Amino acid sequence: MSTAELPPELPPQPPPERPADPLADSRPGPPSAPQLAELQQALLDQGLRRLAITFVTHAGLPLVKVVPVTQLQVAGRWGVGFSPVSDAFRIDGVIDPGQRLARPDGDLRLLPDLAALRPLEPASGWAWAPGDRHDRDGQPYPADQRSFCRRQQQALAAQGVELRAGFELEWLVANPGPRGEAHPAMAGGPYGADRLVAALDYAAAITDALDAADLPWLQFHPEYGAGQFELSLAPGDPLAAADQLVAARLLIQRVTARFGWRCSFSPLPAAERVGNGGHVHVSVRCAGLPLLQGGDGPAGLTAAGAGVLGALLEQLPALLPLACPLGVSYRRLGPGRWSAPFQAWGVENREAALRLIPTGGDGAAAHLELKVADLAANPYLLLGALQAVIGDGLAHPRPLPDPVRGDPAALGSAAPARLPEDLGAASAAFAASPLLRQAMGAVLHDTLVDSQQAELRRCAGLDAEALVASTRWLPLGGDPSSG
Ligand code: GLU
Ligand code: MG
Repeated sequence: MSTAELPPELPPQPPPERPADPLADSRPGPPSAPQLAELQQALLDQGLRRLAITFVTHAGLPLVKVVPVTQLQVAGRWGVGFSPVSDAFRIDGVIDPGQRLARPDGDLRLLPDLAALRPLEPASGWAWAPGDRHDRDGQPYPADQRSFCRRQQQALAAQGVELRAGFELEWLVANPGPRGEAHPAMAGGPYGADRLVAALDYAAAITDALDAADLPWLQFHPEYGAGQFELSLAPGDPLAAADQLVAARLLIQRVTARFGWRCSFSPLPAAERVGNGGHVHVSVRCAGLPLLQGGDGPAGLTAAGAGVLGALLEQLPALLPLACPLGVSYRRLGPGRWSAPFQAWGVENREAALRLIPTGGDGAAAHLELKVADLAANPYLLLGALQAVIGDGLAHPRPLPDPVRGDPAALGSAAPARLPEDLGAASAAFAASPLLRQAMGAVLHDTLVDSQQAELRRCAGLDAEALVASTRWLPLGGDPSSG
């Protein structure tokens, strides 16, 4: 986090109870015809001629429709059609008949959020905007992921609470072998300047592409695993952070393909290697004051900050299938893999699922890092749910256990609980969470459980090796059945 924040003078006060209606619609009204005409002309003047509009499905797949910018006055007001069946797609694109959204009927409108529109690849005339879905009468679609995140953000804002979030992306750059295996595309060791130099043109192209798309980034480096890289995006409000993650992934795919390589965001592209995380950093302010610093608690936590951290810790098992939605996600979550699979928090402890990073001499806000998350997660669902838990923790502070010190795996009988070790257990915790069900509404919650169960059915017949191979390349290749 780069935002400099001053320590508070007074401990923040917990906000009042959260609003009861989880589906209350608080979207801004549609843009007027003159506003759309003005935006359309401004885009055309910048050479932006095509607009890609995306949303991210229950399975974490970004789906897209493209409109000519000359049609913005229609598409910007009425959106583009999208069947609700798309949330029944599994990660491999197969429609699971057990998902209640696996129906041929109905239609939705995907409306671009023009406030979030940005260039995607301006040199070739591409713009991009994330979209929210509603029905033909303009009513919000209750299973829409981005609308859920927006509602949570607005509910917190109404209580004077502001979150800043930022994602770290890890990915593998490789060449597929004859059996689909992944051969790292370049030499170089963990965090190695030799790997950076081996891929210097690639690193320049990635960061140039981010700059051209107005995507602020903080850091880029070769990660631990062979052929693995990491990018830290700058923090923003939760909707902006999720949007930036979606756009950054598209650009990484685009640039990697230009080099003739393939990238994988799979939580675990190969059983013998480290996985790819999608860690998320979150700082919180309440009534203008930071919650995670300047208090009397451990590492400077305020009392309200401790109550929030306690709530996050309590809800971690229920949050897990949103952070780690694939069968293979749970192959990555093992001790010693820096994926932090313990239901514990720690100060600067990289094996605790919630790592508190206190404020430092640079003035950066104290923040939490959720290390378990991977890039199969739908970022809107994850950040929406994190906000719901944070709001609940402010209204109903939970007791906070002591921070874990050292490697939790080495603590023997004193070790904190492991998080659910498979998707089935995580999905059961999610299904049983009244907090998340209330925040999401029954339709979103039920259909997400359906998607988790569909992923479990996809994985059921696969042995350990086949499970990893089935999602080795994420996004998947042309043939869904072979990955
Ligand atoms: N690659 C590790 C993961 O799967 C994280 C490494 C690190 O950044 O600490 O999350
Ligand atoms: Mg990393």
